[in-house]
Parts: sequence; C-alpha cells; structure tokens
Amino acid sequence: MKLLLVEDNADDAAFLGASLRRQQASQVELVHARSIAEARGHLQAGAFDLVLLDLHLPDATGLACVEAIQALDSRVAIVVLSGQDDEDFAVSILNKGVQDYLVKWEGQGRTILRSIRYAIERKRAELRLNYLAQFDPLTEIGNRQYFQDQLQRATARARREGSRVALFFLDIDQFKMVNDTLGHDAGDQLLQQVAQRLSSQVRTGDIMARLGGDEFAILMEGVDNAVDAGTIAQKLLDVIEAPFTLDGHQIKVTTSIGITFYPSDNNDTMRLLKNADIAMYQAKDAGRNNFKFFTERMHTELLEYHDLERDIAEALRKKGFRLVFQPKVNLRTRRLQGLEALLRWDCPKRGSVSPARFIPVAEASGHIVPLGYWVLNSVCETLRAWEADDLPLVPVSVNVSTRQFQQADFQKRVAAALDFHGVTPHLIELEMTEGLLMEDTEAAHRALHDLKNLGVRISIDDFGTGHSCLSYLRRFPIDVLKIDRSFVSEIGENEDSRIIIDAIISLARSLRLDTVAEGVETNDQLDFLLERGCHVAQGFLFGMPMPAAEITPLLRDLFDATTLSPVIKLPAMARG
Ligand code: C2E
Ligand code: MG
Ligand code: MG
Repeated sequence: MKLLLVEDNADDAAFLGASLRRQQASQVELVHARSIAEARGHLQAGAFDLVLLDLHLPDATGLACVEAIQALDSRVAIVVLSGQDDEDFAVSILNKGVQDYLVKWEGQGRTILRSIRYAIERKRAELRLNYLAQFDPLTEIGNRQYFQDQLQRATARARREGSRVALFFLDIDQFKMVNDTLGHDAGDQLLQQVAQRLSSQVRTGDIMARLGGDEFAILMEGVDNAVDAGTIAQKLLDVIEAPFTLDGHQIKVTTSIGITFYPSDNNDTMRLLKNADIAMYQAKDAGRNNFKFFTERMHTELLEYHDLERDIAEALRKKGFRLVFQPKVNLRTRRLQGLEALLRWDCPKRGSVSPARFIPVAEASGHIVPLGYWVLNSVCETLRAWEADDLPLVPVSVNVSTRQFQQADFQKRVAAALDFHGVTPHLIELEMTEGLLMEDTEAAHRALHDLKNLGVRISIDDFGTGHSCLSYLRRFPIDVLKIDRSFVSEIGENEDSRIIIDAIISLARSLRLDTVAEGVETNDQLDFLLERGCHVAQGFLFGMPMPAAEITPLLRDLFDATTLSPVIKLPAMARG
C-alpha cells in the first residue's frame, strides 16, 4: 500500500507516521509532502493508492486542497485530516470525491489503517461504477455520458492550446429495417460489428462512443481542416459499406455522417453534438451513405425552421389553413371516382406556403397531429354539406402522416370524427406513406385492422419512392397503391420508370389492390397507364386541386352522368 501524506505540520505528520508504523510497518509505504506543490512531484512520479490530506496547507486550504489532488490524479483515494474544530467541514465534503476523514490525534494506528483500507476500496468501487456509467455494455465502447465528459475535456484543451477538434456524428442508414427484418439479435450484432470496425479506424487519443440506438460519435483532436476530416469520413463510410455477416446472413448497410469543428463552427460545447446531428440529417437527406459538414447555412435553416414552426402553431390556432380537392378519375369511364383533400396555407406573413415546405416542419414539430385531425373534420363537414345539397358523393382521401398514425388513439379518433359528423366510413380513404409499412409493429397492425373494420379504405401514397419492403405489403390490409408522380412524369423519357410502373401494377394486381397514378399531365402518360391496366388517375390533365365550391359542379355532372351521359366533362385545367 503506497500512501502519500500531505501535511505541513511536522508534529501531526510525525504522529501519523508513527501510529501507522506501529501497526503494519511492512504493508505501508508512506511518503511525506509538505504542500500541494510537493505532492504534485510525488503523484507525477508514481502511482499512490491513497492520499492523506491536511486541509490547511501553505498553497491551498479547504476544498481547494481536495480539488488540487483530484486534478493531479483522479484515480487516487483521498482521506482528509481534520482538526477537532473542523470535523463538520470534513463530513460535509465526503461526497465531493473524498472517501473518508480522520480527526487528527484521535486515531489509534488500527483505526487509521481501517479507514485507509476502506477508503481505497470505496474509491475502487466508485471508479468501477463511474466506468460502468460511462460504458455501453453492448458494444463495449463509451456511452453518451462518457462522450460528453470527454468532449468537455477536449474542448477545454483546444481552448487552452488554440487548436481545433473535429466531431463526427454517425448514424446507420435504415438500421430499423435490419432490426425489423432480421430481428433484434441481428441488430445488436450489427451494432457490435460497426463499433469494432469504427474502432479499427480511430487512432489512440481519438474518442469514440455509442450515443444510443444506432448513433455513434467520434472526436478527433488535431483534425483541423475539412480536407482531412473529409478523408477520414470517407474511410468511415467505406469500412461500414463492406458486407456484414449477421446470424449467417450477409447484409450491406451504409451510414450517414455529420461533421462539425470546435471552435470554428460553434464554441458552445453543448451545441456541438446538436450541430453534428443536423449535418448528419443533411447527409441523409442528400441520399445517405455520405457526409456533410455543419455550415452556417444549416444554422440559418434551423432558425427558419423554428420560425416556421411558430407560424404553423399560430395558423392552427387562428384557423389559417384551408382545403382544396383534386379529382381522381376513372380512366375507362372517364368519370369522377374520388377526390383527394390537400392542405393550403395562406400565411399573412409569407404568402402562400407550399405543403412541401410546411408539412415536413409540421411533422417534425408534432403540429401535424392536430392539423391532421382538422383536415379530417373539415373533410367530413364538406361531405355533409354536399350531402345536404343532395349531391352524389365520391370517396375523399385524406393524407395521414405517420406521426399522426402512430398516436395510440388514432383509430378511435377517426371513428369518433366520422361518428360525430355522421359520415359513412366508406367515403373516407386514408393515404399513408410507405414508412408506415416499416412500422411493422403489433400496434400498427391493430390500428390498420381496426380502421379497415370500421370501413375506411387505406391507400399507400407515393408508392415506389420509399424503401418499401414488399413482404410487408402482404401483411397489411391495404386497398390502394398510388404510383408516385415521379415515375408518371418520366413515362415518356425513362425506360426504368416504365418498368417500375409495370411492376407496381402487376404487384397490385397479384395482391388484389387498386392502383392510382399520381400527377398525370399528358395524354401520352394517360395512354400508357390505360394500356398497362392502371384505371384510376389524378393529375393536372384532369383537374388541379380546387376549393370545395368548384368541386360542386363536378359532382352535379356526375349526378347527371349516372342518368344521362356516361362521361363527365372534367375541365382540362381548372385552377385551384
Ligand atoms: P401527395 O399526397 O402525393 O399529393 C399530391 C401532390 O401532387 C399535391 O401537391 C398535388 O397538388 C400534386 N399534383 C397533383 N397532380 C399533379 C400533376 O399533374 N403534376 C404535378 N406536378 N403535381 C401534381 P401538394 O398539394 O403540394 O401536396 C404535397 C404533399 O403534401 C402531398 O403529396 C402530401 O404528402 C402532403 N400533404 C398535402 N396535404 C396534406 C394533409 O392534409 N396532410 C398531410 N399529412 N400531408 C399533406
Ligand atoms: Mg396524397
Ligand atoms: Mg402522392
């Protein structure tokens, strides 16, 4: 046992030394320092098990003595020596990294020794707990806590030395898919192997951690320019891209990486991780399997995002949204087959804002949930108003964001809205995106079956653009696939788009689902779709999204059509 006694009073030191020697001279090696400065020399020269620390030293007093020792050696146990008059103070600092205290002159050798042994044990336990609290048991690397601690230290060092630190934020692309298709064990194995591969790329001194889920972070001191950071990021991408073997399955995954520098991008340590996270999302948006640097522009976008979010909240309160309806046409009969309700926002400050701009913000902020129910209720009201005018009705589809669908009471609230307005369920179709199919959870299945039993139709919007797992399609009670506009618009130019449309139509046929082509703008597109067997279409060729009042004549025509003419006269272009 190696002890360092830091005590400037010669008598106190002599007494303690003698008491210890009387007991277990052979076991204890006692070194004496008279000040923190002297203690520094000893602690730097060799590892001690414990420091016996006086709190009235020439170069420090009180808690400052403890902090000085801890800064010199964070792993050494500390027992403070107090006089009879300041015992209360000694007790009060027991949770400040001090393991025990001894009142001077009171201790017999045996008591002192017991206290020392106990303090060393306690320190070891503390270190172990501390380690575990900073450790990710799955991948056996540091966790978020560890990373944040290390980040604080690294940035403090960079500040002192005027150097830079690069922070890499990694997220596995579509990790959830691996988990869902191969199971959680395979997901765990993947995380372990990713951690190993990343470890192989970092140098000693770099700090790496798993922040949670499929997120990893790496901190590199001394990487101070975008070129070097880019080279490193590319290596990280490459090492993850090589195939993994999980439970005998070979799979390939990719990652997206966000990079930020301290202090050039931001000198607020707390913001660093957030910024790298933002950059990582940009890398995902740019198509995954790549890296992006955090930039001021992203920061501006973030501010704009918050601004937009506030305005959406206000528009929700002030009923600033309205709905337009776009016709869906049966291509064989040329009759109106249904409508899609689409949101419009005329913002007093910004003018008309496109759903492509505000829907993602409403989704990220959660406003989409109340907004979605507002849409559903408005559609019900519109249907009731048409019904009151004795107009024939066609089903109206309502877009549902995954976020809204994930609410535990979604199906109940849909049922309640229909019930409240007295709308027949088969007049409502819910359009959801493919992301929902990846939500292959018990709850998702139950919700969809409940909706189905209620009588509403379910369609998958923008089909073909997501990463649809076709096997999921079979397992869900879906009625319609909407072929994404991007394929339709390329019918004339792109063979692949034609092949994809063909594949979607035959897939739908085999699963007995209807198909609706989105964004039909030309007669050539129309001809192609008819020939391939897609019988319902929506697009500017038949009608723009328009206010309810402009839909009324179409419905009236439909009414006439059933008795008089088989073909309704849809305007080639009706402004909405
Ligand atoms: P979506 O559900 O796929 O809706 C179809 C979009 O395509 C609409 O854009 C529509 O105006 C546009 N469109 C229709 N025909 C044509 C065409 O022939 N050519 C072209 N170029 N575009 C056509 P919009 O209204 O801007 O909405 C964009 C997206 O915003 C929608 O895509 C939907 O995902 C989302 N959205 C709109 N309203 C709602 C809503 O009430 N709730 C939710 N959750 N999302 C909504
Ligand atoms: Mg839609
Ligand atoms: Mg769509």
